[in-house]
Amino acid sequence: SKLRVGLLFGGRSGEHEVSISSARAIALALSAEENANKYEILPFYIQKDGRWLAGDVPQQVLTSGKVPQLPENETPSANSLLSTTKNNLTRWQFPSQVGEVDVWFPILHGPNGEDGTIQGLLSLMQVPFVGSGVLGSALGMDKIAMKMAFAQAGLAQVKYVTLTRAQIWSNPCIFPKLCDEIEATLGYPCFVKPANLGSSVGIAKVRSRQELETALDNAASYDRRIIVEAGVIAREVECAVLGNDQPQASVVGEISFESDFYDYETKYTEGLADLLIPAQLPDSVTRQIQDMALQAFAAVDAAGLARVDFFYVEATGEILINEINTFPGFTATSMYPQMWAKSGITFAELVDRLIQLALERHSTPL
Ligand code: ADP
Ligand code: MG
Ligand code: MG
Repeated sequence: SKLRVGLLFGGRSGEHEVSISSARAIALALSAEENANKYEILPFYIQKDGRWLAGDVPQQVLTSGKVPQLPENETPSANSLLSTTKNNLTRWQFPSQVGEVDVWFPILHGPNGEDGTIQGLLSLMQVPFVGSGVLGSALGMDKIAMKMAFAQAGLAQVKYVTLTRAQIWSNPCIFPKLCDEIEATLGYPCFVKPANLGSSVGIAKVRSRQELETALDNAASYDRRIIVEAGVIAREVECAVLGNDQPQASVVGEISFESDFYDYETKYTEGLADLLIPAQLPDSVTRQIQDMALQAFAAVDAAGLARVDFFYVEATGEILINEINTFPGFTATSMYPQMWAKSGITFAELVDRLIQLALERHSTPL
């Protein structure tokens, strides 16, 4: 009989819409000829408020690609999947179809999905799932923890300073002193980032004291943990990794764009960025990037898949690791599947391999 694959998509992050696009592409690949006789899709749509839906609504979201309207003023009732706790908090219940899943495919980007939270829930359910576990997901989401793991593995990266929201919003105000330190250590331009987001949300490139102050205050509204990095002038190159304990690295791809940096708009507006696969690089540079990608994958204990992003400073030949994404964009035109396509693995094969890797990892004794 067919393996029932629980497609988990949508979610509470700012990348809700991207998740729907990725889920549509993956659902299509699972219904392709070579996979249709092996897998049956059970879609689960997580609304922006965190509620899980099974059945018709997720199917409609997959078909239309549109975010459905949230039901208004829903009151708890026997069959509404909403319950009220003793202290009057409402909370969602999981749909019963959750119990029918043989393997989960969490297609969620960003916080509450790519960060270890869903992975913890699925681990406790004792059902195999695609991708990294709790540790790999959490380390891959938090840019500060990630950079510490990379530093320990000896991977070269940009200079950075870390701060907390409490420091930025402190009273008595230590803010001017913090800004002095950042200026002295990193100079301008520098990049201010909330530690736990993706898709460039909340990131600012700053060139002056005033911009720095505004950006820090803004980043603190997104996250308790903030990182500031020295800005580099570099080509942006990426490498896809696939596997568990003996992972493979793909060909290297490059992103080129006209905008100031690879911000949200550039990432998601058609025509603003070009993907060049494979990137035109000296062989030794390509090999070094692939090697570093595999080291980064191991450094955070990633599993299944990850996309590792780098800065290649052509002027000096330096290769600096920027980040690892444990659930990268997965639409038909996204970098991750495209890099595998150029490495000889089709989209349909890729989703099949990922499910098999999930089963393999789950069946391996600790
Ligand atoms: P996200 O996880 O949201 O993708 P990144 O750390 O990858 O965040 O930053 C998004 C983009 O910002 C990068 O792709 C790059 O264009 C730019 N950027 C980030 N950090 C730096 C840096 N230190 N120097 C130069 N550009 C940077
Ligand atoms: Mg990222
Ligand atoms: Mg990035």
